[in-house]
Formats: sequence, C-alpha cells, structure tokens
Amino acid sequence: MNFEDLGLSSELLKAVQEAGYSEPTPIQEGAIPHALMGRDLLGTAQTGTGKTAAFLLPAIDILMTSKAKARMPRVMILEPTRELALQVEDALQTYAKYHPKISSVVLMGGVSYGDQDQRLLRGVDIIIATPGRLIDTFERGRIVLSGIKYLVIDEADRMMDMGFMPDVERIVSMLPPLRQSLFFSATMPNEIRRIADGLLSNPREVAVDPPSSAAETVTQGLTVIDDMDKREGLRRLIRAENVRNALIFCNRKKDVAVLYRSMNKHGFNVAQLHGDMDQSQRTETMEAFRDNKVEILVCSDVAARGLDIQGLSHVFNFDVPMNAEDYIHRIGRTGRAGLPGRAFTLALPDDQKYVEAIETLIGKAIPRIEIDGLESPKLDDSGRGKRRRRSAKPSTRSKPANKSEAKPVAAKKPDRPDKDTAVKKSRPSRRKSETDAGNDKPVVGWGDHVPAFMQVSTGEPPRDDSADTAKETVDG
Ligand code: AMP
Repeated sequence: MNFEDLGLSSELLKAVQEAGYSEPTPIQEGAIPHALMGRDLLGTAQTGTGKTAAFLLPAIDILMTSKAKARMPRVMILEPTRELALQVEDALQTYAKYHPKISSVVLMGGVSYGDQDQRLLRGVDIIIATPGRLIDTFERGRIVLSGIKYLVIDEADRMMDMGFMPDVERIVSMLPPLRQSLFFSATMPNEIRRIADGLLSNPREVAVDPPSSAAETVTQGLTVIDDMDKREGLRRLIRAENVRNALIFCNRKKDVAVLYRSMNKHGFNVAQLHGDMDQSQRTETMEAFRDNKVEILVCSDVAARGLDIQGLSHVFNFDVPMNAEDYIHRIGRTGRAGLPGRAFTLALPDDQKYVEAIETLIGKAIPRIEIDGLESPKLDDSGRGKRRRRSAKPSTRSKPANKSEAKPVAAKKPDRPDKDTAVKKSRPSRRKSETDAGNDKPVVGWGDHVPAFMQVSTGEPPRDDSADTAKETVDG
C-alpha cells in the first residue's frame, strides 16, 4: 500500500514524502483510513511503529476540513512524559509543514506557565499535554475544552504504570462526549482494555507487532572496545567492509561533530547531521548523501529519525544506544526492501547493561566480532574500560583488517524474557549525565585535537587520551 491510498490530502502526502517515508507502516495502514472516516480506534502498538503519524496525519486532515470555533483547541493528545510530548510536537512540525496555520502548544510540567498561557490566549488548534499540567491549566481557568473533537491517549500502559490513569479519566470526563477518540497502548492487559472500552465507541482495532526484530536481511556484529581505541576501531572496520554508503550513529550531537572532524581528517568522504544544524543545512546534507556525493554520514538519532535511504549498505553504532529500541531503528535504516545490509556496534566494556537490554529486546545475542590488531576486552560493569589507553598490537598496526579477519566469536545467548520484562528492560535509566560521561570531560582550548599534555581540565581529572591524540596525528 502507498501513502496515496490512505486518503490523505496532497499537502500531507508532500510532507510525508519529504520526511523520507516511502510507504506507510502497518499501524499507519491500519489506522489512518479509519481515523479519517471518524472512527474510534484501539491501537496496540508501541513507539517505533510509526504510530505518531498514524494519529497526527488524520488529526491535521480533520483540522483542515472542520471549522474552528474562536480560539478553541480541537485536538488533544495526551502523553505520559515530557519527552514524548515534545517528540509529538516535533513530528507535528514535520507533518504540518504545509499547514502553517495550524497552531499547537505543549502543556507539560518542568517549564514555566508563562509561555504556555500566552499561546493558549492567542488560540491553538492542538494541545499536546502530560495529564498533570493539563489538569492544572484547566483548573487555573486557562483552557476551554468544549471544542475538542479528536482525542488521542497515547502510551496508555505507561500512563497506568506511572499512576496517571485517574487523571486521564478525569480529563476525558471534562471533554464533550461527541468526539472521536484514539487509544494506543503497547500492551493490552485487562485493566487497560476495560478503560479503553469505557472511552471508545465501536472502535476499529489495530494491533501491530512491536519492532522487536531487526530485518532478517541485516547482518549484525558487535565489538567490545576500549574508549581510546574507538575511532581507530571504527576506521579499521570501515576499511575492512565493502561500504557503499553508511550512517554512523553517535549518542550525542557533540560527539557527532568530533567524530565528523576526525573522519574528515582521515580522508573519508563524510558529512554530519545533527539537531543543532539549521534546516537548510540538514536538507542540503541529506540531498548530498542521497545523491551519493557523500559516502558516510555521521549523525545523531534525532537527526536521522525517519530517514529512509535506498540501498544503504552499512550502519555503524559508534556508541551503543541507551534506549534499546533505538538500536532497532538505527540498524533498520539498512537491509530495507529485501536488500542486504550490515550493522556493527562498538561497545565499551561498561556498556554491558545497554547491550543486554538490546539483546533482550531482539531476543538473541549480537554476534561478537574482533577488529584485527585491537584488543577486545570483555563487557563488564566495573567501568574499567573508559580510561584505558590504546592497546593496538604493533605488528598489525599498518595492516588494516579485512572482512575475513573480523571473526565472530561465540556469544552467550541470553534467556528470552517474557514480554513485560522485555519492555521494561529495553528502557534502562539513562546513564550518567552528559557532562559526567568520561568522554565528555570539558576541555578548554582546542577541544578534540589538543595534545594531551596541553589539556586543562575543569575540575575533574584530565582525560587520558594521549594515545588517541597521537594516533589521530600519525594515522592517515
Ligand atoms: P513513532 O513510532 O511514531 O515514534 O515512529 C518511529 C520512527 O519511524 C520515527 O522516527 C518516524 O519518523 C519514523 N516513521 C514513521 N512513519 C514512517 C514511515 N512510514 N516510513 C519510515 N519511517 C517512518
């Protein structure tokens, strides 16, 4: 099925195409036509399935075809967390690109009321909210809910886990009874279904599998490597592989820029893509990558979200993603449409819990590989890996590894957990804060390329990357 078959307006089709989506995901295919017809919907789907577009695209279409009452919001989307609310707002900006008149506000805690109240006063079409702040805003008399026609309750099971269900039910009781409601949950235990039954009228039910498996066409590999060896390891991996075009993912946008500079210096045909770049730069970079003018794109998750690149040969995870589902999104950029793809991950020894979460989610161990000439420590939780100096074996220093030398080694198969455990495990709490992480020690002066002996640390012990710096200089 194509997006054209779903019944969306030409403006939305254009926006979706520009987002890089070539065809609808199963939840979009199952939900959008019915939502456009005004039906209630019960969707069993989790993040990563494309459900945001499944409820936002019809919402935009409905807004464009119905009349606004003065300054009254007509669409309400409830999210359990601020991050998700902001993510939905981001997605809205993408999908409503050709509907500049559509206005929205995110009502969420942790920020001052001023800006949110101002926006409400000016009038908005869409409210994206976390339950607590929404009730708060309503009780302060800043919001009129009698114009809501389209309600989305997203991540219902998380709402329940977080104790928000009573708030959600209260919000629903404040809305006009004549409305369309869409209810999404990753799991559908009896309690959630009971609540859904009370909210929905003759809903269309759509269930899609969680994106727990990467495409069969993606060959995966993971190498455990010391921090100081990472860039060298990545270069060796790339040289050993037959890379046509590749995405390299970093967890932080700051690291995207650092790795980009380093790769550039080493002669790779590389560009970068991260959230701090303005839209025109991002579009230009994407075009160059799509047109094969650039071979390797170093990127962050946020910037690369939704990218659909035809025939991408490789994905490299320079960092293990902290959210297991991101791993599936990342490696799913290759191996599309039945074409083979290869995905390799560089893990630090103390990335153990993130690797475990990924392997639990995908239900199997990622085959371990070794990079010729570099020591491969074991995964452990002791944190010893972060400050280790480079340990290249000198004899192989000048001879890059080739594919046959990157040998998989036996990996322990984790027990397959039940679904609930998998979901929980796949969302480990964030590791140390950004500035806390070893690789991000604030360095005054020339940043990445300053010789180690000249580095001045601000407060914490200096980063021991002298070996890495030396290598950066002599290599290539
Ligand atoms: P979601 O489940 O809504 O969080 O979406 C997960 C990711 O899939 C997001 O990065 C979206 O941009 C992306 N996405 C949504 N729909 C599509 C599609 N039809 N084709 C490719 N990517 C998509």
